[in-house]
Amino acid sequence: MPLIYKVLFVDDDVNLLYSYKRQFDKLFCVEIACGAEEGLTAIANRGPFCVVISDLRMPRIDGIEFLSHVKDIHPDSVRIMLTGHADLQKAIDAVNKGSVFRFLAKPCEPDTLVSAIADGIGHYTQVVLERSVNRKVLHLSLTDSLTGGYNRTYLTEHLPNEIKRAKRCGHSLSIVLCDIDNFKRVNDTYGHGAGDQVLQAFAQCISESIRRDVDWFVRYGGEEFLIVFPETDIKTAHFLAERLRAKISQASIDINQKKITITASFGLTGFENETPDEKISPDYLIAIADKFLYKAKEQGRNRVVGE
Ligand code: GH3
Ligand code: MG
Ligand code: MG
Repeated sequence: MPLIYKVLFVDDDVNLLYSYKRQFDKLFCVEIACGAEEGLTAIANRGPFCVVISDLRMPRIDGIEFLSHVKDIHPDSVRIMLTGHADLQKAIDAVNKGSVFRFLAKPCEPDTLVSAIADGIGHYTQVVLERSVNRKVLHLSLTDSLTGGYNRTYLTEHLPNEIKRAKRCGHSLSIVLCDIDNFKRVNDTYGHGAGDQVLQAFAQCISESIRRDVDWFVRYGGEEFLIVFPETDIKTAHFLAERLRAKISQASIDINQKKITITASFGLTGFENETPDEKISPDYLIAIADKFLYKAKEQGRNRVVGE
């Protein structure tokens, strides 16, 4: 068991604490705290701990109250109650209020304690790992792996909510559909790998041009991206799309020591507080933005069209 697993012993008996430290310090990274208050300070300053082992009877704050605080502060930390004064009601309280993982009686054989701590660390590691895997899976299921933008699933789930929120608050919202011009030529001239790099550079450019945590974008199709600008009227969205258009057209993308420049066309639309409901559905808005994008292509590309 690597020493990185931090284990905190809390007891009001200092001698016992030092004996724990002596016995288990070679196996785990052991810290000790005399009483619940010191235990909470240790958690605040040196936590989180994978496993917290607490005595039951301690002055002022008893072990059950202490472990229930620990649970609130670091729900993942595994809690073990170690007591010489157990009765059934205390055990029930420890489980219900402190969600203890093990309830052990003092004096406790060192082997029993080591095995409870090791099980606790195993439990902690699994919980943390599962959460990180779930987070990754969720991220992968909602993003486009090539460009890092959101995908269509995210759009389907989030655009209706974004629209509802805007409507409820009386805010405007704009969307911009953008499509790289003559992208097929990039693939045909420089290869598909270069095309992928151009897509990444394009997405990066969008990402740098929009407000963090407010605006968001989706890879809508091959070389087509949809940007959502909450709390933004059409006039402002026009300005933002124009700024992005200019930035993209001026950027030089480095691919295999060659500098490539691209342009893109933009179709935009949006709604205000007064816009009737039938004109603010996701499908309606995207269809209108698409119509304007088509116009931008028709009018010669590298331009923003919309109202
Ligand atoms: P327009 O200016 O009218 O938009 O012309 P275009 O060439 O950009 O559009 P077209 O729809 O004819 O071609 C889009 C190309 O994008 C064709 C397709 O092979 C390419 N493409 C789609 N997805 C990817 C991808 O993930 N990587 C690469 N490299 N190319 C892609
Ligand atoms: Mg295109
Ligand atoms: Mg296209």
